[in-house]
Amino acid sequence: MAALLSVDEALARVLERARPLSAEAVPLERASGRTLAEDATAVIDLPRFPSSAMDGFALRAADTPGELPVVGRVAAGRPAPRSLEAGEAMGIATGGVVPEGADAVVPIERVTESGDTVTVPDAVARGANIRPLAADVRAGGSVVPAGTLLTPSRIAALAAAGVAEPRCAALPRIAIVTTGTELRPPGEPLGDGEIYESNGVMLAALLERHGLVLERETVADDEASHREALARGLEADVLVTSGGVSVGPHDLVRGILAELGAEEVFWGVAMRPGKPISFATRGQTLVFGLPGNPVSSLVGALLFVVPALRALQGASGPAPRFERGMLGSAARRNPNRDDFQRARLELDGDRAVLLPIEGQESHMIVRAAAADALVHVPRGKGELAAGTEARYLSLGDA
Ligand code: AMP
Ligand code: MG
Repeated sequence: MAALLSVDEALARVLERARPLSAEAVPLERASGRTLAEDATAVIDLPRFPSSAMDGFALRAADTPGELPVVGRVAAGRPAPRSLEAGEAMGIATGGVVPEGADAVVPIERVTESGDTVTVPDAVARGANIRPLAADVRAGGSVVPAGTLLTPSRIAALAAAGVAEPRCAALPRIAIVTTGTELRPPGEPLGDGEIYESNGVMLAALLERHGLVLERETVADDEASHREALARGLEADVLVTSGGVSVGPHDLVRGILAELGAEEVFWGVAMRPGKPISFATRGQTLVFGLPGNPVSSLVGALLFVVPALRALQGASGPAPRFERGMLGSAARRNPNRDDFQRARLELDGDRAVLLPIEGQESHMIVRAAAADALVHVPRGKGELAAGTEARYLSLGDA
């Protein structure tokens, strides 16, 4: 293994090779989690007409306080029956069109009604309880910029502004190939030396949030089955393998990828766990060779594969989003590699306190599954004392 790249350098090499995929129109019903490929602009002014913020009475501020005849009612979804003249009031529902001639709405709780008149005891300010035309956005104005992940609130914004089918980046097509003769699906009996396969399901569950997992298979450590599965996987936008990227005689992935025309960009990153990770490209296809140890696979996927899937969708800021916290107990540093320690997160007031868990070895997926955070412990001498600031990646949904 040549000199190890730093995590940042390795990520930069991945991201610069992740060119945005084509764009397609996506109905809002299916747009959650998608990334906008083009700026979305408002089809209409929003609000589209001056509307009432309250159930109450539309009137002229200059006529208050006073006793006013109620000359009509405006229901939501209906035009005002006519314009309002001086000295008049008109009943209005929240969201109703403020009639021409009115310049304020007084809430129903502030008046007394009797028959066809309403008494307004206090002066009402001009503009009170009226939502002005286009105060949220003007027709043609920006609703959501390109590169933004569509969250529920942004989907609502697009809907309200009349954008029915925003143009989103196509979802990356993903193939997952897990390697290892020892692997069996959970639920089946295990022979001597066999273990349950866990990386494939983990990767599928993680990556399907950021793309389309089209293929997932497990292959034994022989060249023919590697060749067949990897050749198929290379047809995807992103091929993710697990296992078989170290230096053992059964580690076949890199050699077969090279035979199939993949060009290796790097092999080996100064990180722990996950050092033997490899990254290659063939044409536009990105190929990640994750190490087989389950925690190494998880960390490699979070630090490199998920960001690449975001970048393929043109996301602004595709890099992992680290947050800031404080170590609640000491963390030993590795002299040569940045450590990504699994930790529990406790809150001290608003402060995130990170407590590295027992069992940091890279095969300990059950220990890792109890963690809330992946704490970045930069390489160096000695240890980081309790109380040191540290950045972490939330494992909340990983
Ligand atoms: P490798 O990177 O192939 O040398 O595998 C390293 C360790 O991870 C070995 O103990 C493997 O048995 C284990 N391993 C590899 N692939 C998987 C997998 N898909 N699920 C669970 N453990 C695995
Ligand atoms: Mg193996």
